[in-house]
Amino acid sequence: MTELTPEVARRRTFAIISHPDAGKTTLTEKLLLYGGAIQMAGTVKARKAARHATSDWMALEKERGISVTSSVMQFPYRDCVMNLLDTPGHADFSEDTYRTLTAVDSCLMVIDAARGVEERTIKLMEVCRLRDTPIITFVNKLDREGREPVELLDEIESVLGIACAPVSWPIGMGQRLKGIVDLITGQVRLFVGARHGERAEAGALLDGLDDPRLLEHLDAQDLAALRDEIELVQGASASFDLDAYRAGRQTPVFFGSAIHNFGVQELLDAVVSYAPSPGAQTAVEREVQPDEPAFTGFVFKIQANMDPAHRDRVAFFRVCSGAYERGIRVKHVRIGREQQLANAITFMAGEREGAERAVAGDILGIHNHGTVRIGDTFTQGESLRYTGIPDFAPELFRRAQLRDPLRSKALLKGLEQLSEEGATQLFRPLTSNDLILGAVGVLQFEVAAYRLKHEYGVEATFEPVNVVTCRWVHGDDPKKLDEFQRRAEANLALDGNGELVYLAPTRVNLNLTEERWPDLRFLATREH
Ligand code: GDP
Repeated sequence: MTELTPEVARRRTFAIISHPDAGKTTLTEKLLLYGGAIQMAGTVKARKAARHATSDWMALEKERGISVTSSVMQFPYRDCVMNLLDTPGHADFSEDTYRTLTAVDSCLMVIDAARGVEERTIKLMEVCRLRDTPIITFVNKLDREGREPVELLDEIESVLGIACAPVSWPIGMGQRLKGIVDLITGQVRLFVGARHGERAEAGALLDGLDDPRLLEHLDAQDLAALRDEIELVQGASASFDLDAYRAGRQTPVFFGSAIHNFGVQELLDAVVSYAPSPGAQTAVEREVQPDEPAFTGFVFKIQANMDPAHRDRVAFFRVCSGAYERGIRVKHVRIGREQQLANAITFMAGEREGAERAVAGDILGIHNHGTVRIGDTFTQGESLRYTGIPDFAPELFRRAQLRDPLRSKALLKGLEQLSEEGATQLFRPLTSNDLILGAVGVLQFEVAAYRLKHEYGVEATFEPVNVVTCRWVHGDDPKKLDEFQRRAEANLALDGNGELVYLAPTRVNLNLTEERWPDLRFLATREH
């Protein structure tokens, strides 16, 4: 216990994950409504509109700018301080999403009741599993005909490999949606649909299935069927277990309709009651408790600023311990230098404000003029390095081709700086002067070409290259590593941090190489 303990206990730092169109934006808006940040609702929508116009460069610029301000939304709810971290919807920006997940203590997973578990959901779940992130599930769009709830639970369990504990249960669906039953308290919340653009009123709260008012909405036969169904579900599925949820083994499942603001408050209440407050963070040297007095934290994301006149980049920093106060002096551990954090940004409901105070779980925006990288740790003197912010092996590779060969220095600088933001990775083959860019989506190459031109005055194109995937190469025996370097030189490169990477021309080649060098480790992720 320290004086920070109660402050930290009030924090809930979480992200919403979903396949595009499941309702993340809509749910975000509704959550902010409860936090009293109503004016934000429009902003989230505007951003979403910009996000879809990806071929329009102005929109893309705008999106990047807006997303700096709405990437972190802090709002009060009940006696908690909620930090909701946004994750980009576009699949081409999934690197950003993975990194953001290293800065949260829990996630809300949104599933479309008609579509069930989708491809991005599976991928995001894999990332959550790397850190056993606790997940609360929200089955959305109950106001439409969807799949049977039991079937959805089965799919989540079998496809995502996590046990489900239904905490609420729908009464009907689509046109027949009458409400939801809280399986823990037994209470029934009646459904009142909101007309388009209106703020939905909460429907009446009934004591339970025996409440006579329920029969005004449901005939006796349907009610009997509902009782049977609930009995069956409760018999067949696990009941909610806080420890299992916190360990990432079980997910409590809620049903609702974000657009009708139905079931949303229950969800937010669950975040307050169940989701963990910031816990201990692992550094290479030791575990750091969130209520330790000395300030520490790490950078999980870097984003270019919208204002082209400034070119500064904002580093997103998660506080892990201690308290930030304006003007605090910190140590930038990687470069071993002291510096003052003069005007960090906090994100009160999307407005950028000078941060007055931030504790574990809170996010700060730090102006970065090129000295800050993803994974960097700041402390008040201690040499700590936080772990667990991985780079993922990119899935697409292209070679940068210059129009004007005299600009090669500027090209290198541009690519290096863009890669520091983490959306692309730069590889320099051992045996050539090529600059190979790796990304998870094609859009990243367009963005890189655009930004090289506008921010670095370099005209470059990105051409196909014979690489399908890459692996970071590790080995305990320096002799074996040496030998590998000599034998496989043509396929080896250094990444932006000078680490050895194998660039595989085919999957088969990668498999063969792994088999041939059993003493070496070929890693698909790289920890900072
Ligand atoms: P995102 O891509 O996950 O951010 O999804 P959005 O929040 O933009 O929602 C995608 C589409 O689903 C939009 O047209 C929403 O209006 C719609 N939508 C979201 N929630 C609901 C819901 O509860 N019911 C219905 N019927 N539609 C919804």
